[in-house]
Amino acid sequence: MKRTVQESGGKRKAGLEELRRRLDERGGHMTRQRAAVYDYLSGVEHHPTAEEVFLNVKRRIPKISLATVYKNLEALVACEAISKLTYGDGSARYDIRTDHHYHTRCLGCGRMWDLEAARGKSALEQIKPQPGFAVSDFRLELLGHCEDCRG
Ligand SMILES: [Zn+2]
Ligand SMILES: [Zn+2]
Repeated sequence: MKRTVQESGGKRKAGLEELRRRLDERGGHMTRQRAAVYDYLSGVEHHPTAEEVFLNVKRRIPKISLATVYKNLEALVACEAISKLTYGDGSARYDIRTDHHYHTRCLGCGRMWDLEAARGKSALEQIKPQPGFAVSDFRLELLGHCEDCRG
């Protein structure tokens, strides 16, 4: 899936204009809360949980509830404006990027960052699934400890 994106510091962000267009296409609409949620996500380097988004958006919109933030995040995921990263062992995290990319994940605090790497094709070519297994996608993650957690 391709889309027009602005390149900003190596990180891809769709502007609010693009978000409005996407919401329009899919019958969603732009609200102040939705824009604030999106805006917060586009300004952070790591991929926050719904709780983190809530705590930060609340500073701008004191009346917003966690349920509303969650609903807005899910609406943005549904119209493919953002992506949701889920793991069995923690809360879902939300990512402003929707293109295929890789992450580093801290085992201490659970935060995730985009990993700027060339597509790992050559390494992937050496990985062979069992016979009969049809690969449709893959994830690449570097696990470790971030600077804060290494203290
Ligand atoms: Zn950490
Ligand atoms: Zn990411």
